[in-house]
Amino acid sequence: MLQEATLKRLEKGLLGAANGLIKIVSRMTAKAPDGNTAILWEIFSRQSNPQGTTYFVGYKPATGEWRCTCPDFQKRGHKTPCKHILLAQVEHQQRVEEAQHG
Ligand SMILES: [Zn+2]
Repeated sequence: MLQEATLKRLEKGLLGAANGLIKIVSRMTAKAPDGNTAILWEIFSRQSNPQGTTYFVGYKPATGEWRCTCPDFQKRGHKTPCKHILLAQVEHQQRVEEAQHG
């Protein structure tokens, strides 16, 4: 179940994406050092800096672990996912659903 705070952040992230402030630049799969597959998203954000900042979101399907390189995640990532992770999760979910339904 999503918490209220998470929903607020999801909304903010999606609004940012809709405004072009946060966007997925690329997505790739790689092999992590432990041998598991990891999915990596490169995300460009202009929300806090007009010059823009690039963050990387990583996901390991084997462990269900999500990570982001942004300061927000370093501070609160263990409690609530940051907007970059939420954006990657939405994109990932769309891909999973497309794969399931053709
Ligand atoms: Zn982040």
